[in-house]
Formats: sequence, C-alpha cells, structure tokens
Amino acid sequence: MASHEEDCSPDTLAFMELAIQQAKLAMDSLEVPVGCVIVEDGKVIASGRNRTTETRNATRHAEMEAIDILLEHWQKNGLSKLEVAEKFSNCYLYVTCEPCIMCAAALSILGIKEVCYGCANDKFGGCGSILSLHLGSSEPLKSHGVPQGKGFKCTGGIMASEAVSLLRTFYEQGNPNGEEGCDITASCDVQFALIVSSKASQTSGSTGNALNMHTYSLILTYIWVLSQVQNQKLTVENI
Ligand SMILES: [Zn+2]
Repeated sequence: MASHEEDCSPDTLAFMELAIQQAKLAMDSLEVPVGCVIVEDGKVIASGRNRTTETRNATRHAEMEAIDILLEHWQKNGLSKLEVAEKFSNCYLYVTCEPCIMCAAALSILGIKEVCYGCANDKFGGCGSILSLHLGSSEPLKSHGVPQGKGFKCTGGIMASEAVSLLRTFYEQGNPNGEEGCDITASCDVQFALIVSSKASQTSGSTGNALNMHTYSLILTYIWVLSQVQNQKLTVENI
C-alpha cells in the first residue's frame, strides 16, 4: 500500500488538512479526535467527526457521520438506489485514521472509489492492518447474507504524524469520557487508545486482545449495515 506523503498532490494534502480540522473539532468537543471529508468532483460534499460520546453510540465514527449525511441528502433529493451507488463510486474519502473494520466494510459495501488515510489503525484497521476489506473481500459478511463489498483504492500515511499527535494529545491529557466503565461508547474509545499505545511501542510485538476486538468490530459492522437495510438506505440487490 502506498504511503509516500511526498507523492501526494496538493489537493490530497489540502483535503487531509480539512479532515484534520474535523478531528480537532472532535477534540474540542471532548471526542476522540478523528475526522474526515468526502470529496466528489474535487469538492467536499460531506464532512464528519467522531461523535461516539455525544450520541452514546459506538457506531458514530467520523466516516459514518459523513456517509449518513450523504445517504439522507441523496434520498431526500429522490435519487434511486442505483444513482446513490453511482454517486459513491465517484467519491473519495479523506480520513485521519485508517477506517476500522466496521467503517471499511461500510465503505466497501457502498462502493466508494478511493480512501486516503492518515495513521494506521493497528488493532482494528479494515484497510490492511487487521483485515483488507479494501481488496473487496468481506467473507464474514457474505457468509451471513449481508451484501458483499467491492474493492477500493487505499493510500495510507498521509499526514500521519499530525493524526497520531492529536490522538496522543487527547489520551495524554486524559480522556474525559474514560470513566464510563463498560459503556459501549467507552469501549469504542478503547480502540483509539490502543492505536496510540501501539504507536508508542511499535516493537513490542504484542497482539493484545485483537481477536476479541476484531469480533467486536464485526458486531458493530452488523449493527450499522442492518440498520441501513432496515432504514431502506441499503439493499442487497443494488449494492
Ligand atoms: Zn470506524
């Protein structure tokens, strides 16, 4: 996977800067600082930031926020499911942290064209770190009758140091929401705490409880996909 920041176009860096700004807005709101923008025809058409604490919903990652803005907008404008799929196939996502398994599965199912991310998500990443859903393989979903995802181009390492720095600052100053115990939202924050800790000790070789977290991420994927199907935003036939 490409990860050469010096090869990035000025546009790519500019869009990632906007994603970083979203991450900073998340931090200002005492949320885990991850942000994103979705771009179509060179224009930002949606932005999102992590809102898991505010919503007390562990699926409200930055990517999901931006995706849902577009799904609702296009649905209101009367676009058919086929037209929505066509729109997504022309969209680029810029996100400060590698999409987790849940978000990568969603992006794959929606058929996004390309994803550019900042830092890797060593514990939960769905674009090469844990699973490679960007390659179009989503067997766990397929085997349970959920739409199979398509592949998408993925480039990591863009402004990664800025992205990690935000996460590190957030956790070093103490996650103000970390006292929520077994709350599922707090569990979500654990994902990002682990990213930071793994960045701090890259050579430790510890796999931690990645398997359990992997299962957890897949459960979140089911929650999101099934909610979208229930809300008629996704169907098996047209994706
Ligand atoms: Zn995610």
